[in-house]
Amino acid sequence: MQGMSEPLHIVGAGMAGSEAAWQAAELGVKVVLHEMRPAVATFAHKSGDFAEMVCSNSFRSDDDEQNAVGLLHWEMRAAGGLIMTSADAHRLPAGGALAVDRELFARTTTETLRAHPNISVSYEEIDALPSSGHWIFATGPLTSPALAEAIMAETGAEALAFFDAIAPIVHFDSIDMSRAWMQSRYDKGETEAERTAYLNCPLDRAIYEAFIDALLAAEKAEFREGETAGYFDGCLPIEVMAERGRDTLRFGPMKPIGLTNPHAPDNKPYAVVQLRRDNALGTLYNMVGFQTKMKYGAQADVFRMIPGLENARFARLGGIHRNTFLNSPRLLDGQMRLRSRPGIRFAGQITGVEGYVESAAMGLVAGRMAAAEMLGRELAPPPPTTASGALITHITGGAEARSFQPMNVNFGLFPPVPEIRGGRRGRRERYRAYTDRAKADWQGWLHHAAHEPAPVTD
Ligand SMILES: Cc1cc2nc3c(=O)[nH]c(=O)nc-3n(C[C@H](O)[C@H](O)[C@H](O)COP(=O)(O)OP(=O)(O)OC[C@H]3O[C@@H](n4cnc5c(N)ncnc54)[C@H](O)[C@@H]3O)c2cc1C
Repeated sequence: MQGMSEPLHIVGAGMAGSEAAWQAAELGVKVVLHEMRPAVATFAHKSGDFAEMVCSNSFRSDDDEQNAVGLLHWEMRAAGGLIMTSADAHRLPAGGALAVDRELFARTTTETLRAHPNISVSYEEIDALPSSGHWIFATGPLTSPALAEAIMAETGAEALAFFDAIAPIVHFDSIDMSRAWMQSRYDKGETEAERTAYLNCPLDRAIYEAFIDALLAAEKAEFREGETAGYFDGCLPIEVMAERGRDTLRFGPMKPIGLTNPHAPDNKPYAVVQLRRDNALGTLYNMVGFQTKMKYGAQADVFRMIPGLENARFARLGGIHRNTFLNSPRLLDGQMRLRSRPGIRFAGQITGVEGYVESAAMGLVAGRMAAAEMLGRELAPPPPTTASGALITHITGGAEARSFQPMNVNFGLFPPVPEIRGGRRGRRERYRAYTDRAKADWQGWLHHAAHEPAPVTD
C-alpha cells in the first residue's frame, strides 16, 4: 500500500500521461509527472505544453451510438476524463467530429494538471528504466532514443518503426473562395456552423487525372530498409493510395458524395478535396486525409493544382514520422504491466494503440489501475465489451504477437452481441447494440472501481 512518501511516477505528459496523471491524482495518489519538453524536443511537437496535438486537430467522430471512437469519448467523459473536458471546452465546429483549438486545448490541460494539489511536474528526460517504485511510461510514438534503448535492453523486443504521414495546413486567406465552398458532407450537423464546417475544393475529371499524374510523378522521401513494414491502411499517404489505383482517392479522401458546389450546382464534381478548420480563429485549414511523404517542393506544386488552392500558402506541409511501439501482447500483462518488471506500466501509443483518443483512453485506465494498486486495491481491466476494454484486451493478448501492429478502436475488436449474432439486422442496429452494452458495462466497471473496499491493513 502507498506510503505518503511514495508517489506514482508518470513519464511523458502527452495524451496518455496527462490523462493517467489526472485519474490517479483524482483518486488521491501523489503523482510526479516527468516531461522532457521543452528542454528536449521531438521533431513533431512545437511547444512545451502537455497533450500537444502533433498533427490533426480532431478527436474524430463524437457519435457515441454508431462509432467506436465516439464511444471512447463517452467512456472517458463518464470517467471524468481531463482530455475530454479540455476538448469540450475548446471545441470547434466540425460536422459531427470533435475538433478543437489545439493551443487552447493543450494550455487548459497543462494548467489544470499543474494546478492539481496531488501533481508535481518534473521537466526532465527519463533515460533509464527504474529499479523500484510505481511507474507509468507514456512516452509515445516519439519516445526519446535513450529511453527506447533502455526499454529494448530490458525487453529484448525490437521496437518497430514505421511511417505515418502529416497532412498539410493551409492559410484560409490564401484559398480562392470563388472556386471553393463551405459545406459538411450531407449537410451534417445541428447548427449552421456545423453544417458548413468543411471547405471543399472541386476537381473535374481532367484536373483529377492531371493531379493523379503529378502525384505519381512527384519526388518522394525515400523509405529506409524495413521502415515500411508497419504501414497500416488508416493512414496511408495519398501517393501510396494513388499507386494502388487511379480511382482509389476518388473513393477515399477525395470522394465527391454528399456535396453540392454552389458555384456550379448542376455540375457534379468528379472529386473533392476537403479542408477542415484547424484553429479557433479560422485562419488555418488542414487538408483532410492528405497525409503525404512527397518532398516539400513537390507538395506545394502538386497541391496548387487543386482548384481553389492555386495560390495556397502552407502553414505546414505534410511530412513523415516514426512510431515507436512495443510488442505488447508479448510484453505486457492484463494490467498493462511489464511482465518482467511489474512496477512498470506502459500506456498510450507506445503500447500499440493508434491515435490521440485511443492513447488518452489507455492513459485513463493505466492511471486508475496504478492508483488502485498503490491504494491496495485490485482493479480488474474494463470488460472487453467496452471500447477501452476491447482495446486493452487486444493489445495485451487479443492480438497476434508475431504480426502485432498499432490498432485504432473499432467494433471489430468487440465481442459480438449474442442476441444479434447471426441475425440479419442492419448495421445501425448492430452498432447501437454494441454501444448500449458498452455503456452499461463501463458504468458497471466505474461503479465497481469506486466501491471496491480497501483491504484491511495492519
Ligand atoms: C507526427 C505525428 C502525427 C500524428 N498525427 C496524429 C493525428 O493526426 N491524429 C491522431 O489521432 N494521432 C496522431 N498521431 C499519433 C499521436 O502521436 C498519438 O496518437 C498520441 O499523441 C499519442 O499519445 P501518447 O500520450 O502516447 O504520446 P504523446 O502524445 O506523443 O506524448 C508523449 C510525451 O512523452 C514525452 N517524452 C518522450 N520521451 C520522453 C522521455 N524519455 N522522458 C520524458 N518525457 C518523454 C514527449 O515529449 C511527449 O510529451 C501522430 C503522431 C505523430 C508522431
